[in-house]
Amino acid sequence: MMDPKNEISKFGRKVVSQGLAYAHFGNISLLSEGKILITSTGSMLDEIGHDQVIEVSREGPCPEDALASCETVVHRAIYERTKAGAVIHTHSPYAVATSILEEGPFEPMDGEGSKFLGAVPIVEGEMGSLSLAKHASSALKEHRACIVRGHGVFAIGATLEEAYIVVCMVEHSAMIRRLVSAG
Ligand SMILES: [Zn+2]
Repeated sequence: MMDPKNEISKFGRKVVSQGLAYAHFGNISLLSEGKILITSTGSMLDEIGHDQVIEVSREGPCPEDALASCETVVHRAIYERTKAGAVIHTHSPYAVATSILEEGPFEPMDGEGSKFLGAVPIVEGEMGSLSLAKHASSALKEHRACIVRGHGVFAIGATLEEAYIVVCMVEHSAMIRRLVSAG
């Protein structure tokens, strides 16, 4: 398997090139040898080198959290409460628009989205807050993704590749939904 830090770097570039987040926004993590590897605070997702990946404790807050993404608390809660092996957080524009326009849960209208994702919960909570950590991790116990209202998407998978497929599907389904609504 690819070095986990290189894996994070690879999917960081993909997320930005697909327009799912501007470079300074969004964050990516995975579990590796009992630790969480997560992108650093303020890093650009399309320029992640080994220095921009921070190793933090899975169990609870640790000094390294200060260097890690401000959403580390949310990622940690997701690993605690779900079977996720990787988490991708983006600011996908159509998904964010959908979370502002609709009460939720978001129901994909396209065949693949409705079959693969089912209803996608829309959750509330301030960025990097314990409240968001609680709401997002609860939603992800039963779903592969959730949308934080007015903010972005958290998607999970056993691997980063799986989480990436989910985050792409959420955005595709949200785009279809908005195109149909505009029609
Ligand atoms: Zn965010």
